[in-house]
Amino acid sequence: MKTKEDETLTTVSAYAATSATEPLTKTTITRRDVGPHDVAFDIHFAGICHSDIHTVKAEWGQPNYPVVPGHEIAGVVTEVGSEVTKYKVGDHVGVGCFVDSCRECENCKDGLQQYCTGTGMVGTYNAVGRDGEPTQGGYSGAIVVDENYVLRIPESIPLDKAAPLLCAGITLFSPLRHWEAGPGKSVAIIGLGGLGHMGVKLAKAMGAHVTVLSQSLKKMEDGLRLGADEYYATSDNDTFKALRGKFDLILNTVSANLDLGAYLGLLKRDGTLVELGMPERPMEVPPFPLAGMRRSLSGSMIGGIPETQEMLDFCAEHDVAPEIEVVQPEYVNEAYERVLASDVRYRFVIDTSTLR
Ligand code: NAP
Ligand code: ZN
Ligand code: ZN
Repeated sequence: MKTKEDETLTTVSAYAATSATEPLTKTTITRRDVGPHDVAFDIHFAGICHSDIHTVKAEWGQPNYPVVPGHEIAGVVTEVGSEVTKYKVGDHVGVGCFVDSCRECENCKDGLQQYCTGTGMVGTYNAVGRDGEPTQGGYSGAIVVDENYVLRIPESIPLDKAAPLLCAGITLFSPLRHWEAGPGKSVAIIGLGGLGHMGVKLAKAMGAHVTVLSQSLKKMEDGLRLGADEYYATSDNDTFKALRGKFDLILNTVSANLDLGAYLGLLKRDGTLVELGMPERPMEVPPFPLAGMRRSLSGSMIGGIPETQEMLDFCAEHDVAPEIEVVQPEYVNEAYERVLASDVRYRFVIDTSTLR
């Protein structure tokens, strides 16, 4: 039997946060040996999600530094374990926000691993894997993941554009499907960032009437080009008068606190506002706009493995892909500043070739 000392762990370069206040710096990490059910792949691209920033800045609690962020990972298989049946060397694959879960609870059995009630989903980074080691994410050259938590990237989607689908794409696809966005449904997307722009494209591809609610009209031309039917600035109070009672579904992708009552007022009777943004602090929910029209306030977290695969196949079929700006790993800290300034069109994707 192999002991820990016998293992020839793979070493790859990575970018890691070492504290909430220091910039990310280049380092090296090791990846475990390929077990019977594992898939090893070279990471070609990793998207920068605002959740990476919340995590490393300790806005969701103290993470376990050093943290290598990145849960929008796309690459090419280099090795598979002896029992792996789903993938072979050379396949285009991806990994999203989690790399394991209990596999036995009701939610895991339903393919909703993100809501695992057993062990909880095991995050792609800032978690502890089955081997007892901390998980480290996609701002790195390679990764080893159990085949059941790996997604197949359709060949028609280039790997750089596939990466953001693994979080931003599925996070919007899942609620759009769950609340049945489609022809005859009026959907609003709050915030035109990484998540929001995918929401516009996906809701449009599903046939819904799509409205963007952005802070200003600065990105209006883009929003309409991406598929929005209407575009409003939320800094203009008239927007809230003009759109009162208009929407069946509102998806809030904003990373900061909003006046939820004002947005609830934009829903039709029985409409639903789905919280997708994860700001650091709680938000207030005024009861009158909620109860007055029997409206619902809900939330949604990424998506399970089967639905993530369905989303990737949907994107290939409907020619849906994110708008990206590919950057080198050393640009990561500047990219973070630009995300925080809402200066991203519309997802930064790190080219990780120099980290392999
Ligand atoms: P992002 O690219 O920074 O987009 C957020 C957008 O929100 C910005 O582009 C901006 O859009 C708007 N915004 C930012 N600050 C605002 C403010 N103070 N007031 C009003 N609007 C503001 O971030 P992202 O990667 O899309 O992530 C968005 C949020 O979703 C984050 O909190 C992230 O952690 C969370 N998230 C949740 C899930 C989930 O499973 N539920 C998954 C991934 C991410 P405009 O310029 O158009 O106003
Ligand atoms: Zn994310
Ligand atoms: Zn479970």
